[in-house]
Amino acid sequence: MPATGRNYIIAGAGITGLTLALALAKFGANVTVLERADSLQEFGAGLQISPNARRVLDRLGLGEALTQASLEPLALDTYANGGQKPLISLELGPVMRERFGAPYAVMHRADLAEALYKATRRFANIDILYGIRQWDARSDERGVAVDIEQANGQNQTMRALALLGADGVHSQTRQQILGGPAARFDGRVAWRTLVPFESVAGRIAMDRVSVFFSPGHHLVCYPLPHRQQVNLALFLPGSADKAQAFPKLRTRGGPIDALMAAAGASWMPWPLHTVATETWHRGNIGLVGDAAHAIVPFQAQGAAMGIEDAAVLAPLLVESDSAEAALARYVTLRQKRVARIAALSASNGRIFHMPWPLSVARNTVMRLQGKRAHLRRLGWIYGHDVGEGPAHS
Ligand SMILES: Cc1cc2nc3c(=O)[nH]c(=O)nc-3n(C[C@H](O)[C@H](O)[C@H](O)COP(=O)(O)OP(=O)(O)OC[C@H]3O[C@@H](n4cnc5c(N)ncnc54)[C@H](O)[C@@H]3O)c2cc1C
Repeated sequence: MPATGRNYIIAGAGITGLTLALALAKFGANVTVLERADSLQEFGAGLQISPNARRVLDRLGLGEALTQASLEPLALDTYANGGQKPLISLELGPVMRERFGAPYAVMHRADLAEALYKATRRFANIDILYGIRQWDARSDERGVAVDIEQANGQNQTMRALALLGADGVHSQTRQQILGGPAARFDGRVAWRTLVPFESVAGRIAMDRVSVFFSPGHHLVCYPLPHRQQVNLALFLPGSADKAQAFPKLRTRGGPIDALMAAAGASWMPWPLHTVATETWHRGNIGLVGDAAHAIVPFQAQGAAMGIEDAAVLAPLLVESDSAEAALARYVTLRQKRVARIAALSASNGRIFHMPWPLSVARNTVMRLQGKRAHLRRLGWIYGHDVGEGPAHS
């Protein structure tokens, strides 16, 4: 692969940025990652990593580390309106490996970030600069020049063939550098918390994902055994204010009440934002992950899309003589799939929160689907293989 000596700059050391750094470095490219935070972040909560994303991470050598830090849930159980028994128990576990060649797992976001970070430390050609205070970029005929100001006050200008903005939903690359739109508040808030295993033991199944639907809200719950914690994410209408108070919630009994009691006042709000823009690049400056296409998390695919982006873009960049051409091809390969997943995620949000009597029809349809129906219905998501090079994308 003729990438040695090629330099790329990535803005943002989140899941997408670190995956892209690894994918580029694997081909011999030199990568500098500029991260605003002062160090690797321990923030966030649980993440479901589906086979389409896991396949990419396995190829980057993370398989063993992820297996150790994650759980392969046996099923995803859905409950409605305070019911004690699941409407349906959708099979996960071994059948996902058999059907899609990679596991479906749940883990803590920080454990994934740490596994990615540790993997980057094995590459001399990846440099991660934390604590970047400000930066600006301009394109010219030789590539991209990025002026950076570090936390220690040092300024420098770096040159690269391309700048890849992996700087998240409120991306500076998208808004300031490419002149793209701001993220749009979705009207809903994800309230997240982690509770100790023992606080909900016997109240919920500890070997699976449980999802509780109610009119206007839903709760997603799964265990993180290696941390002895259970991840809870409750989705409700709310405001974009990060300091908002937890609203009064009318639940209807069932396991959800035990979970709410265990969580107490520990909920942290995360207002949901989405990004809709068709401009994912201009010349040799491009966008990946949430920076390009943040979606609502109701199909648990946001991080997976960033991981797939990285696996598609890296080989295109290193095999092409022109970063602009590589970015244009990446956009063509990715936009349709991401749009389809964004639409499905939005539709799930409506279905999960359905009021009566629509919820009755939803529950009937769910009960009647087989416990393996999702394998076919969602095969286009989980079975998608972005491959290891452009020929497979
Ligand atoms: C409640 C919830 C549950 C979710 N569950 C799932 C799930 O189960 N499965 C799944 O696949 N996805 C899930 N997602 C989506 C997923 O979290 C995101 O899609 C994913 O984290 C995006 O990763 P990213 O690296 O693109 O962006 P980010 O994680 O936002 O990372 C961006 C990085 O860039 C840095 N940065 C920001 N601005 C700058 C700047 N100007 N300069 C330099 N650095 C900068 C940030 O500090 C950060 O490190 C969920 C999301 C939510 C809200």
